[in-house]
Amino acid sequence: SSPAAAAKAVLITGASSGIGEATARRLADAGHRLLLGARRTDRLTALAAGIEANGGSAAALALDVTDPANMHAFAAAAYERFGRIDVLVNNAGVMPLSRLDALRVREWDRMIDVNLRGVLHGIAAVLPVMQAQGSGHLVNIASVSGLRVDPTAAVYSATKHAVRALSEGLRQESRQVRVTVITPGLTRSELTASIGEDATRTAVEGQMGIAIPAAAIAEAIHYAIAQPEGVDVNEVVVRPTAQG
Ligand code: NDP
Repeated sequence: SSPAAAAKAVLITGASSGIGEATARRLADAGHRLLLGARRTDRLTALAAGIEANGGSAAALALDVTDPANMHAFAAAAYERFGRIDVLVNNAGVMPLSRLDALRVREWDRMIDVNLRGVLHGIAAVLPVMQAQGSGHLVNIASVSGLRVDPTAAVYSATKHAVRALSEGLRQESRQVRVTVITPGLTRSELTASIGEDATRTAVEGQMGIAIPAAAIAEAIHYAIAQPEGVDVNEVVVRPTAQG
């Protein structure tokens, strides 16, 4: 089929940096039409303008995934623009790591709100449209922290285990909507900036020397989306070769 025939309407949350930004660039290169969401609209607008200047199709809209009404408005704007919603990449995430006994309760709540509730809000916003279409694709960004638990990562790991669990549940329920979990290991991005504890942030940043570029994760997302409708790539784990 021609590239135009394969073009999909794709929504990406957390597209203002890191994996989301790299995914926007990769999917635009593949000819998909994009709606990009995040809170830093200056970055989003510049990204969309750069994609359009390169001959791609992208628009930017302010989005806070913790607000279900905002997520719904984001999906509605996409539907208005494209007349359909083929793919939602639930990518927005934060990682303020700390030991549980530091009792940084507001940061726990933030991770649950963005990493877990945000994904659920995304599903709620697009699932009715996809069911009405008889097709669609949820791509949820988990983490290798959804496969194991490391020191200072209890709550972050809990949210990422939850993303894998709810994705598997949605997959089992769905006969027309595809569900893919993307499970990255250490990846270069701005994620460590959300670590509030200085000592923890320094320690984690010390591990990032082996991190792979965000484009490596974007490639896995592109691969999952590019499969035929009847083929659902359930999960892709992508780690640095040097990561234990
Ligand atoms: P970044 O910090 O670079 O990107 C995170 C993105 O999430 C930003 O665009 C940010 O945009 C957005 N975001 C945060 N809070 C919200 C919110 N409330 N509403 C909307 N958008 C929000 O990190 P990554 O690219 O690394 O993170 C992307 C995903 O990948 C996350 O889910 C993360 O957990 C996951 N991941 C990352 C790994 C890594 O090593 N980097 C490893 C495994 C998984 P803004 O602040 O403008 O709203």
